Amino acid sequence: RGKFIVGTNFKMNGSRAFLQDLVENLNRADLDSNVEIFISPPSVHINHVRQNLRKDIAVGGQNCFWKSSGAYTGEISAEMLKDAGAEYVILGHTERRTLFKESDSHIGLKVASALAAGLKVIACIGETLSERESNTTLQVLFRQLQAIVDHIQDLNQEEKWKDVVIAYEPVWAIGTGRVATPKQAQEVHAAIRRRVEETVEGSVAEGMRIIYGGSVNLGNARQLAREKDVDGLFVGGASLKPEFVEICNVLR
Ligand code: 13P
Repeated sequence: RGKFIVGTNFKMNGSRAFLQDLVENLNRADLDSNVEIFISPPSVHINHVRQNLRKDIAVGGQNCFWKSSGAYTGEISAEMLKDAGAEYVILGHTERRTLFKESDSHIGLKVASALAAGLKVIACIGETLSERESNTTLQVLFRQLQAIVDHIQDLNQEEKWKDVVIAYEPVWAIGTGRVATPKQAQEVHAAIRRRVEETVEGSVAEGMRIIYGGSVNLGNARQLAREKDVDGLFVGGASLKPEFVEICNVLR
């Protein structure tokens, strides 16, 4: 299934000086080589971070457009992220879906274009609190997932799925301090894996890494990481703090 992943989403945070300090901290850190790590600074800093960060940590973008180039003022393509040194891109984050009105099919288009450009994708799906409370969690997640499956159908099967990581990020857990319990995360991750098995292929489902995000911190990381279908952690707020290094070493 590939290594356990610990990834960050810095969101719209971090000056160049702040990121330089963070990079130097990571460069000095004793990190578990059994864990794959990526960090996702704002796109204007990707190139700087890539040039200064140790090479065993990957760099990611937080979004991209689905066209390669053209008259799309303000947008950045997957090719451009790759050219700047990114290996990953986060797509479908709830903040993109909600604040920037990205639909399931926009996200499907973005995932397809990022894979075609040779980026690895962290594809985020998640339900809101009211969706969870009305027992529609899986229905919502499967709808979000299906849009991705549909849009990447035409790409080469082997090639594409190995580069897709699903991030389960319950909206009610993001930035709230209200983390999903390990049991809640495990149940949903197992359901996502079963769904991929049914709609794509068994080997893809088995090989796919499904990571959890939403109020992950040093206090809850270890318990979440123990769950069978939790293949990594996706860290927002805590990734900007020194405890991030310890979260990366959670398997030790
Ligand atoms: P927090 O860790 O701050 O809840 O954010 C998670 C997140 O949005 C990762 O993409």
